[in-house]
Amino acid sequence: MSVPEEARALVREARRVVVLTGAGISAESGIPTFRDAQTGLWARFEAEQLATEDAFRGDPATVWGWYLWRTGIEAAAQPNAAHRAVADLGQRVHVDVVTQNVDTLHERAGSRGVLHLHGSLTAFRCADCGQPHVGGVEAPGSPRVIEPPTCPLCGGRIRPGVVWFGEPLPHRTLSAAVDACTRADVVLVVGTSGLVHPAASLPGLASEEGIPTIEVNPEETVLSSSMTYAVRAPAALALPLLVRD
Ligand code: NAD
Ligand code: ZN
Repeated sequence: MSVPEEARALVREARRVVVLTGAGISAESGIPTFRDAQTGLWARFEAEQLATEDAFRGDPATVWGWYLWRTGIEAAAQPNAAHRAVADLGQRVHVDVVTQNVDTLHERAGSRGVLHLHGSLTAFRCADCGQPHVGGVEAPGSPRVIEPPTCPLCGGRIRPGVVWFGEPLPHRTLSAAVDACTRADVVLVVGTSGLVHPAASLPGLASEEGIPTIEVNPEETVLSSSMTYAVRAPAALALPLLVRD
């Protein structure tokens, strides 16, 4: 694996960097990517079948159990060298972290002001009245089908704080991400398949402004051909090399 010197120079000389991340940056922390998370009890579901409001309304215990299982995985996971490299870069220059991830590994590595395009797993709230859920939840040690708790105000079911397929992204977060991507000196695109829009449209907005883009992903993606540089390597290996002073 080698990181092109030109790509390293782009990061070294940048004053404003955007790091757009997807599930792949957390894979080496042991959090399964979306495509890998359909295991055991949920193997018969497509991600799109679990991550929708219809799925939750139709079979709340199956969907809630899946998210609780992922909550437990997240709680046990630690940031990896890629999350730390992004946080370290933020100590030297202005970095906007724009993530599709619903985990908190960027924050736990030390990044601040992370823009969570798809919400946060543990920002539980009532599915009917939106009231935040206080009181926490207990993650199961093994995958189980679990009835969600109910809202003390309206009796509605408690749901995870993620943005499901078909739901709008948080407006202010998305516009801050667009703003960051169109003002950056370079945009790094790390561990995303580029299939979920509008997140996947952000690198294109940067390109339209003439801003260089660098992909870090062991696999080729639908975004690869429009990137200025593509580094074909796992994030925890490549990012520290890419952003090293
Ligand atoms: P995705 O599952 O569609 O794609 C993951 C990408 O990561 C793939 O292109 C894969 O080649 C790449 N990848 C795998 N291992 C990698 C590594 N070590 N280093 C770099 N790249 C690696 O994920 P997505 O593009 O983020 O979109 C799917 C949706 O899944 C998002 O909406 C997101 O909210 C959700 N999701 C989040 C988490 C999380 O919070 N950690 C986990 C799973 C899914
Ligand atoms: Zn309620």
